[in-house]
Amino acid sequence: MIRFPKQVRIVEVGPRDGFQNIKQYIPTETKLSIIAAMVDAGVTLLEVTSFVHPKAIPQMADAVEVAETVCGKYQNTALRPIALVPNITGAKKALAAGIQEISYVISASEKHNLANINRTHEQSLEDLGKISKELPELKVRLDVATAFGCPFSGRVDESLITKLIDAALKLGIQTVVLCDTIGVADPLLVYQHASKIKANYPGLDVGLHLHDTRGMALANSLAGLEAGITMFEASVGGLGGCPFAPGAAGNSATEDLINMLQSMGIETGISLDKYIAAATIVREEIQSVLTSRMAYACKYENM
Ligand code: ZN
Repeated sequence: MIRFPKQVRIVEVGPRDGFQNIKQYIPTETKLSIIAAMVDAGVTLLEVTSFVHPKAIPQMADAVEVAETVCGKYQNTALRPIALVPNITGAKKALAAGIQEISYVISASEKHNLANINRTHEQSLEDLGKISKELPELKVRLDVATAFGCPFSGRVDESLITKLIDAALKLGIQTVVLCDTIGVADPLLVYQHASKIKANYPGLDVGLHLHDTRGMALANSLAGLEAGITMFEASVGGLGGCPFAPGAAGNSATEDLINMLQSMGIETGISLDKYIAAATIVREEIQSVLTSRMAYACKYENM
């Protein structure tokens, strides 16, 4: 008999991972109204923006404004706004804007790390060390990108993940998110990696960030649940497809994940109806066709 957790934490990453893949600039007001709808639905962990250089990702040019507004508006509430930062400069900007928790990305595959941010593992870890030392007030989540597969070097060996986790633990980092950046994981691989890491690092908070590129995000989430994972990152509407592959599915859709968990009796603290309302704003304002299923599903009462 499989034992599932009673409760799961969902981290909404749409305003970062989803929006950054939208070519057309989304007005800051629209971004904030979608964030407000998600908070209203009950989300408490929310990646609101990314402090990358606007030349690299023009969609994130309003990072300061978004972060300042969200941090100000939801001060003293249950919301924990998170921002992605690529380096210490971004971390300083995030902190100045009121952010207390950041995601820092290192790819398990060094080839991908070099292609993505032009750094070796050593260089990435050095910068992470600087962040921990110089900005101790920031809570850091380590996002291990390409944890299940890399576009350049194929399957990623688990030892590459543990090498990064060991380095993160030395810096006092307590949260690690295994990211299926290009959506190549399968349920068996997710179960194997996640259960090994859960067993080897009992005190570590381990999350999963799954992409639905090949239609396996929900199956992979289930495999993660079976391995004892209780934190999942997902994106409203399933936004987050590759900007260079039109029609490609993006992140695991938050409302689909909420629906699956809710159907299984697992608590998320989030209202599915309100989340579908948030996805509707996304559909009306940003992207007319979503990969989410729940955004289109008929509603049945008394089910
Ligand atoms: Zn992603």
